[in-house]
Amino acid sequence: MRKFICFVLASLLALSFAAAAEAFPTAFVLGVDVSELIAQENSGVTYCDADGNAADALKVLADSGVDHIRLRVWNDPTDGEGHGYGGGNIDAGVAAQLSARAAALGMKTLIDFHYSDFWADPSRQLAPKAWAGMGPDEKAEALYDYTREALGLILDAGGDVDMVQVGNEINYGMAGEDDTDIVARLIAEGCRAVKEVAAGRGIEITTCVHLTDITRYSRIGEVLAALQKAGTACDAVGLSYYPYWHGGLEYLDSAVRSIVADWGKAVFVAETAWPFTLEDGDGAGNVIGTDPGLYPVSPEGQAAALCDVCRTAANAGATGVFYWGGIWTPVGRSARKNKALWAQWGSGWATRYAAAYDPDHVEDADGGCAWDNQAMFDFKGRPLAILDAVKQLSEGTLPEGLAAVTVEADMPEDDAVNYVLNPGFEDGDRSMWVAESGVDDIPFDYQDFVNDAHGGTVAFHYWSKADMDFSIRQTVTGLEPGTYRASAWSQGGDMKDAKLTLFVEADGETYEADFMNTSWADWQNPVLDAIPVTGGELTIGIRIRCAALGWGTLDDFSVTRVE
Ligand code: CA
Repeated sequence: MRKFICFVLASLLALSFAAAAEAFPTAFVLGVDVSELIAQENSGVTYCDADGNAADALKVLADSGVDHIRLRVWNDPTDGEGHGYGGGNIDAGVAAQLSARAAALGMKTLIDFHYSDFWADPSRQLAPKAWAGMGPDEKAEALYDYTREALGLILDAGGDVDMVQVGNEINYGMAGEDDTDIVARLIAEGCRAVKEVAAGRGIEITTCVHLTDITRYSRIGEVLAALQKAGTACDAVGLSYYPYWHGGLEYLDSAVRSIVADWGKAVFVAETAWPFTLEDGDGAGNVIGTDPGLYPVSPEGQAAALCDVCRTAANAGATGVFYWGGIWTPVGRSARKNKALWAQWGSGWATRYAAAYDPDHVEDADGGCAWDNQAMFDFKGRPLAILDAVKQLSEGTLPEGLAAVTVEADMPEDDAVNYVLNPGFEDGDRSMWVAESGVDDIPFDYQDFVNDAHGGTVAFHYWSKADMDFSIRQTVTGLEPGTYRASAWSQGGDMKDAKLTLFVEADGETYEADFMNTSWADWQNPVLDAIPVTGGELTIGIRIRCAALGWGTLDDFSVTRVE
């Protein structure tokens, strides 16, 4: 197995370097999601071209060879009293303006209907307020009507829409439904509406379903089977692929090839990104705040990451790649000053007005941009090296030299046996784990929530209004004498007075590695290497002490033999 992986890695590297001098397909779609642009402009954000002259961000993208924009569309992202929810406040009317502007610059549009009034992703698929209380039949009809109306509005305004996503990251639900067959039926109605609108206007529109979590390909297969059973007129599958969340490029390669081969669908990358800096531009912390490895965190690393994704996707048979959050730059440096702009124009990720609609994710406060370090423009609106790379790709060349920037790919671990039982808590029998609280409050639970899990959907989750002091451990038995390696994965935030420790007890010795959570989904991987074991067993665990309101998850514990 190990030899096989090395062979594949060598082949991929050889391919990369060979491809650097080769042509890149000019028909490949190069898109950028610009959903926040009007909110940004209203907030006073400016952009410039490569010469430093003030310029329309869409014009800079078009001149850089971007041929598609992508726009999410929320049904009604307002509280009904004129306050927007944030994230661009983008409904069909706002999308129509942006799509028309892009069309005037020669760019086509991918419309991304969330069928929600706010963010839809694997952690939430809330039905629009107007659909509250509807059963599946009524909701299917409402979704069909809404799709026809919203798409018609965008086309009437002059938008050049040639792709429509019916739902956003719908692996586990859509529009308040989580039954896969009901979701498939809703998607079938959305696709039918899109096809009818297109036929009525004599244009071609590709219908798309958008999936994420490609490392769980079995789930993708289940959703596509349900869509087929529902007779969905779905032409294409869009995949989210963020290198720091979704495994190495081999996962992307495999998912694209499998969907093309197994389901006969066109495939494209609907979302990807990479940070050019770890600095925060607007006083609102970023989703990726520590170095994820894989590529350098720099403008060149960002360009290299996109080129790698494009190269891998194209080689596997995908039709295009869309970059996410490309224009979502800071509205200003100081969070204190920015708050009024975020609230007024919706240029941050959420306003306090969204809290009533999505209380699980939105606090009673105005949030900023958590993506400014992954935009394609720097904090002052100047285009980054990634747009030079897009230009070369659009002209049919893989940029020379960038492949060499790529650092080692995140290859799957070899087939070393993990001696931890139920290491990711996916199995309902968790009797092998011992979790103890050192204070009266019990802050932890086993949470089935895919966005907080490192692998699978379940993780050991904690949060409390009181100060926390707890541990989780498992004693692993039946170990041959040898040297072992122990590790686990951790993410979380709001750490105050915190001490987080991975520990191992073996042969009467205790080994410890401290680590620290940074922000949501920024996975830490503490490791204890070279632990000698002669007594047949060891205990692996994590102890956490932190002040009230800290939160996080632990997942995928591992004990493997290294020699
Ligand atoms: Ca930020």
